[in-house]
Amino acid sequence: MFGLIGHLTSLEHAQSVANELGYPEYGDQGLDFWCSAPPQIVDNITVTSITGQKIEGRYVESCFLPEMLATRRIKAATRKVLNAMAHAQKHGINITALGGFSSIIFENFNLQQIKQIRNLKLEFERFTTGNTHTAYIICRQVEEAAPKLGIELSKATVAVCGATGDIGSAVCRWLSVKTNVAELLLIARDRERLQSLQSELGRGKIMELEEALPQADIVVWVASMPKGVEIDPQKLKQPCLLIDGGYPKNLATQVQHPEIYVLKGGIVEHSLDIDWKIMNIVNMDVPGRQLFACFAESMLLEFEKLYTNFSWGRNQITVAKMEQIGQISVKHGFRPLMSF
Ligand code: NDP
Repeated sequence: MFGLIGHLTSLEHAQSVANELGYPEYGDQGLDFWCSAPPQIVDNITVTSITGQKIEGRYVESCFLPEMLATRRIKAATRKVLNAMAHAQKHGINITALGGFSSIIFENFNLQQIKQIRNLKLEFERFTTGNTHTAYIICRQVEEAAPKLGIELSKATVAVCGATGDIGSAVCRWLSVKTNVAELLLIARDRERLQSLQSELGRGKIMELEEALPQADIVVWVASMPKGVEIDPQKLKQPCLLIDGGYPKNLATQVQHPEIYVLKGGIVEHSLDIDWKIMNIVNMDVPGRQLFACFAESMLLEFEKLYTNFSWGRNQITVAKMEQIGQISVKHGFRPLMSF
């Protein structure tokens, strides 16, 4: 059985869907109430591969909300992630994806040191961040969408916002080696990490966002921001492809401009309907078939009986592992979301 640990995008979102999640009493409650809520399995899932194979899964709502980070409720945030992991393990789930902020919290607050959750010893090999598949899907979105907009990749400048992150660094590796884009612009706040990525890649220009945006044909957003940024479409090239891979989305507003194309990044579409209700709650356009690539990674590992933390730690995603998960993804009928 596979598992998905997820969370909602904001307190407002959580209050509006509390009923559907099975928490009617949380509908008018504030952040403190959500801080004390235990994790809960809120969906049973069946996925059928195009090979005909069927698998079963569970969705674990961690009750984490991004406002917990924004208001420095760090203890609550870390407790949410660990308790959700313990809950998944207790229910016998073999491989569980840590969706959205779950893996970021796990890494940033060194939760690998905390193995004991009450009477349960966490077995980390039962979990995956799902970031290898996410990075692969974002790269495929770049490769497939750019030519449709008349952007020639070998001449294109690609800005990666969140370049030093787990997903961002993997995207940079792939775009350097496999796609060989003309120019990579590396954006993040920590200068030292940017320099070390630049020397690993042997290429790329370190830049501030404001400086990079007007130069980029393609912008990949994979920063871990609890709130999105506003951008002025007038400052972008035309055409410009924006791939928004953040959760919550990195772009605060929908950019309305005929020559600016925004693609939901790191989202896959399955070839067959998935039997679940959870993707209605996270506002997918086609909830029966569309999902986060990180969640799909745990499904793929379950299909292949690869019970291992395929994606783990930080900045260790190789192009070879992206290719491996990519092949499995295609084999079972997943494809990158391509609708603007
Ligand atoms: P990491 O924490 O590993 O990396 C985050 C990156 O963003 C770092 O480079 C960080 O560098 C940068 N960053 C953070 N804040 C800012 C800022 N204000 N301005 C510029 N750069 C910033 O995160 P992941 O790679 O694991 O995840 C990235 C995003 O992808 C997240 O939003 C996550 O929720 C989403 N995601 C989507 C999935 C999907 O299936 N679609 C799956 C998993 C994650 P620095 O701190 O130096 O600025």
